[in-house]
Amino acid sequence: MTVFSGGKNMKKGLSALLALVMIMGLLAGCGSKEEETIKKEESKEGIDYMVLVNKLNPLPDDWEDKVETVHMTNTVGDDVEVEKKAYDAYLKLKEDLEKEDVHVDLDSARRTVEAQQEIWDDFTEQYGEAYTKKTVAQPGYSEHHTGLALDLYLIIDGKDVVENEDMIQYPEIWEKIHAKLADYGFILRYLKGKEHITGYGYEPWHIRYVDDPAVAKEITDKGDTLEVYLGAVKDTDPEIDYGKSELYTEEELDEAMVQVKCQFASWEGCELEALRYAGDEFNTEENIKWLNESAEDKTYSKAIKITSDFHTPKSGYGSFEKDYDYLDYEWWLGCDEEGSWDIVQMGYN
Ligand SMILES: [Zn+2]
Repeated sequence: MTVFSGGKNMKKGLSALLALVMIMGLLAGCGSKEEETIKKEESKEGIDYMVLVNKLNPLPDDWEDKVETVHMTNTVGDDVEVEKKAYDAYLKLKEDLEKEDVHVDLDSARRTVEAQQEIWDDFTEQYGEAYTKKTVAQPGYSEHHTGLALDLYLIIDGKDVVENEDMIQYPEIWEKIHAKLADYGFILRYLKGKEHITGYGYEPWHIRYVDDPAVAKEITDKGDTLEVYLGAVKDTDPEIDYGKSELYTEEELDEAMVQVKCQFASWEGCELEALRYAGDEFNTEENIKWLNESAEDKTYSKAIKITSDFHTPKSGYGSFEKDYDYLDYEWWLGCDEEGSWDIVQMGYN
């Protein structure tokens, strides 16, 4: 079972790996001083600032030859590589935010396909393929490859706030940041409620440079995702029915639904029409046991059933019927000790 999850584990794995790479670099005697700016010499045809890279669309083949990048060192001492124009725009955004006493820095921006492949291989060796698929972005399919995707972190009262779970505690600060993005050609990339289109949960820190402020403003004002703006995906917002639950709050049910929406985003051309919580009566000992038997080395203490309606494209998708309405298609999720939901079974049971 392939499911998606947030960037947290990925980030930790990545920083551990980077630390290792740095230590190895020092041991090998190549810890030379970083250059502030590295410009590629040869003249460039230029890149497409509207490029779409997501779980379905890989980085264009010639991208890595064309992209011009700069390196900077953030307040935690990490080297961050960013596309050149995106970095200039970011500096202006940062300066503007400082006037409002909002302080940010870059956590990570460009990650090459090669670096992602190394992380992928390292994880596969250590934890196996199933875990890797679940936690690490597939090499070639991360927007971070472009150099146009920037992950911000906050500096509050002089202290770096870098962990996702800490950053999410400051919605009013993110609001101020998001309000200024379009002026400098940035959009917020992973919107709340659009997980079925982007394939990612809400990330207030992940911004994307699209170059033209007018375009950024149009996308932002419409509340669109880049996928919808570019016409790659139709904008269908599923009807959500939380039903009546004594066991869960709507926020908790939302966490489970986001998992389903993220998985659904990879079903190319399929349109999600509705998601419904099936009810507390499905959280039985028997169902929990069934999910635990189906899961690879994970233990769940709760079971949730979510049903969905969706429509398949005329060209078809996978083994589904073409141009067909699937009703009450089932998703079964288990909740682990940490309180996070995993999709364990799906289909008609
Ligand atoms: Zn990101």
